[in-house]
Amino acid sequence: MAVVTGLPTKLPGEATLGVMGGGQLGRMFVHAAQALGYRTVVLDPDPQSPAGLVAHEHIHADYLDAAGLARLAEQCDAITTEFENVPAQALNTLAERRFVAPSGAAVAICQDRADEKAHFTASGVACAPHAVIRSQADLDAVADALLPGILKTARMGYDGKGQQRVKTRAELAAAWEALKRVPCVLEQMLPLKLELSVIVARGADGQVVQFPVQQNLHRDGILAVTQVPAPDVSEAMQAEAGASAARIAASMDYVGVLCVEFFVLQDGRLVVNEMAPRPHNSGHYTMDACEVSQFEAQVRAMAGLPLCAPRLHSAAVMLNLLGDQWFDGSQERTPAWDRVLALPGTHLHLYGKTEARRGRKMGHLNVTAATPAEALRVAGEAAAILGLPAPTAA
Ligand code: ATP
Ligand code: MG
Repeated sequence: MAVVTGLPTKLPGEATLGVMGGGQLGRMFVHAAQALGYRTVVLDPDPQSPAGLVAHEHIHADYLDAAGLARLAEQCDAITTEFENVPAQALNTLAERRFVAPSGAAVAICQDRADEKAHFTASGVACAPHAVIRSQADLDAVADALLPGILKTARMGYDGKGQQRVKTRAELAAAWEALKRVPCVLEQMLPLKLELSVIVARGADGQVVQFPVQQNLHRDGILAVTQVPAPDVSEAMQAEAGASAARIAASMDYVGVLCVEFFVLQDGRLVVNEMAPRPHNSGHYTMDACEVSQFEAQVRAMAGLPLCAPRLHSAAVMLNLLGDQWFDGSQERTPAWDRVLALPGTHLHLYGKTEARRGRKMGHLNVTAATPAEALRVAGEAAAILGLPAPTAA
């Protein structure tokens, strides 16, 4: 199979960039590409997809639709993806005609927790003790030391979906049954001190740039708050996380933006959790706090443009805005954006989703300030207006 390589550079104002998937990450990618003067094409089956609504062209087609993929390849000079569950086969098909970054092979690793963990280990980065469960024999052979643990489906999990916490072998067996005995990974439950993530971008020439490490707070399995600079992470640990992410990227010959999520354990050890072959919710702060956003980095990497080390020019707190904020009890409402935007350093990003649902990511609010304390203070005021818990409360 012929694969089209990255060169020559697709210069701004002269080329068309395509993206597989039309969610909010695709929308923010499209905005970044358009700011640089690129024409943009989105492939997504949903006629109301957030990215499709703002791209120059929206191909309404299934991800494996041959005619849709042919049209995307025909129109674009380079193609990327905005979600990791796009079939790797679709990316491989596109790669026969156009430069695709990240590659189908890299995305395939990220799609399967078992492969992902094997890749971490091969890259010399420690992950949680775990076992892959594909059969009854695998289940029976699970070491007692992995309990209590978390059983996660190997594929298609996100926002804590497809996961069950289990304390005993009986609970484990029941959980696997409830997950319909699909391939799973059982991870030992680790004593977490905090969670962090790091975004790196890697060019086709192997150059890697690292964004500042972000500290993340989850509520109900969904990212709620990101703080940068990470208040409780030492410089040495930030460097370790960045170096690990760069190794993970290099060892799969990755081109594009990669987010790697880590746990910091109570004893201070850094353990990798998972990765996403694309910009990430925890990297949204880069849009307003860094010289180059994670989405511009994605554009630069796929277009063969230089990657510059992205300097953090402001402290930032990001608040995720879920559909819950659009409800007051059972009553629908519009959050008081006017009051939020009256606060200094607030940057509102809404994804243009037509329907608010509880737990659905509708947008995010970045708060930037000269100091971390000030960013946190203003974020606290914004949270109070929106009816969110204080940004430091779990
Ligand atoms: P997403 O893709 O949205 O980040 P996910 O559904 O893939 O989420 P994970 O990141 O695997 O899920 O886990 C969700 C959260 O559950 C983690 O952020 C962490 O808080 C907790 N968690 C996951 N694995 C472990 C573990 N081994 N020990 C302790 N806590 C864990
Ligand atoms: Mg996660």
